[in-house]
Amino acid sequence: MGVFLVFGTKHLGAKPSAFRNDYCRSCDDYVISIRKRSFLVGHLFWIPILPLGKRHRWICWECDNVAHEAPDTGRPMKWFVVLFLLGLTWAGWSEPIPTESPWITWVLRFVFPAGALGFAIAAIRQKPWPDWKEKMKYVEPLTDLECPFCDEYLMLQPGGAFCQKCGLDRQ
Ligand SMILES: [Zn+2]
Ligand SMILES: [Zn+2]
Repeated sequence: MGVFLVFGTKHLGAKPSAFRNDYCRSCDDYVISIRKRSFLVGHLFWIPILPLGKRHRWICWECDNVAHEAPDTGRPMKWFVVLFLLGLTWAGWSEPIPTESPWITWVLRFVFPAGALGFAIAAIRQKPWPDWKEKMKYVEPLTDLECPFCDEYLMLQPGGAFCQKCGLDRQ
């Protein structure tokens, strides 16, 4: 599937700025997440060509994924493969059968739809994502008085607290 990945996006220069209690969809658990500021660029063949601007993301401290982003289940890719194989099926049945090795065409005429059916079943049977919005309701604001990263006491300030050592805000 590498051919579909020639265009993508990448976060450059990620800098942490704050931390908070959060719910991580990848961990399916309550975690501490870190807000990271970065610059998003689009890349083509891994060459950054398209500046897309600044982004803030809350990254799970446990697994390094974006806390609220669905774990990569590959479901859209499976449906894409289904369409692709259906296209090949159509091509296989619309092409005339060659006089040389006609069995290849006959095999492919049945292998492609069988593959499409297999991927469709896999996509449908995929486990549904946990109902994370419900779980978000139970995320309590962080009240720790120490920085979880430096074990330093936090400096209290109106509306929050921050770590003097690493500069992160508690949120
Ligand atoms: Zn996580
Ligand atoms: Zn700190």
